[in-house]
Amino acid sequence: MLSTYNTILTKKTQLNSNTYLYHFDLLEPKEIIFIPGQYVMLKVPSDKGPVSRLYSIASSNNSKTSFELIIEIVPGGLASNYLFSMSEKTEVVFQGPAGMFSLRENVKEKVFLITGTGIAPVRSMLNSIIKNKKAYLFWGLKSFKDVYLLNELREISMVGVNIKICLSREQNLEVVPSADRSFFDLGHVDSCFIKQFNNLTVEQINNLEFYLCGGRLVVEALRQFLQVKNVLQENIFFEKF
Ligand SMILES: Cc1cc2nc3c(=O)[nH]c(=O)nc-3n(C[C@H](O)[C@H](O)[C@H](O)COP(=O)(O)OP(=O)(O)OC[C@H]3O[C@@H](n4cnc5c(N)ncnc54)[C@H](O)[C@@H]3O)c2cc1C
Repeated sequence: MLSTYNTILTKKTQLNSNTYLYHFDLLEPKEIIFIPGQYVMLKVPSDKGPVSRLYSIASSNNSKTSFELIIEIVPGGLASNYLFSMSEKTEVVFQGPAGMFSLRENVKEKVFLITGTGIAPVRSMLNSIIKNKKAYLFWGLKSFKDVYLLNELREISMVGVNIKICLSREQNLEVVPSADRSFFDLGHVDSCFIKQFNNLTVEQINNLEFYLCGGRLVVEALRQFLQVKNVLQENIFFEKF
């Protein structure tokens, strides 16, 4: 059964040209319990009545009195228009939490292959769970100007998460400050992954667990890519936006 949460938008921060971080404080009930990777449901008012849209919780579940969402504003999108024009102090009702996209507790090394706002549930997972566990994040964005949360990712890298932001539309990495270049690579997430994980043995492949998140088509393409690389279905978890 989903619970209903009355919240108030207390902070809205622009992350790049079309992506925003929304911070909601809980009004009633006062706390939310969720598993990192889960989403909440927003009811968007429309002419034909309320329409549901799902958003992955992007914050750690250590904080129970508030949660954050990372949302891409899609031109002409119903929820996008609603969220874009939403100002701080607006009261918003969510339902949830729900969803099965969550980290499995085992000894396998975690590999996150994500694009765009697919970072949302993974940010929650990384902030909440991984402490000195071996993990690799490959995050696909188009250009350096699209990158956000770099300070946070630097900190996460200090606890052992290997970070690669894969820029698909840059010609070279000169746009990236030299101190940060080790966090970046050129190309799509699959090619960045292959560069780092080449010639794996079956045993090594079976010791990796993959978490895919992003647009529907990209996630499907990544799933097929992993299957061709002989990754077992049971080691692939995904959320399609
Ligand atoms: C489990 C789950 C979790 C999700 N979590 C997030 C999240 O954390 N952050 C987030 O931003 N979104 C997330 N989404 C997507 C979100 O639910 C909406 O689909 C998205 O915000 C678009 O809704 P809209 O009402 O603005 O657009 P709509 O009115 O549904 O669509 C308007 C037009 O935009 C197109 N469109 C829709 N999405 C995109 C896109 N991404 N890029 C280009 N065109 C698009 C549609 O095909 C349509 O033509 C999630 C989806 C699922 C299923």
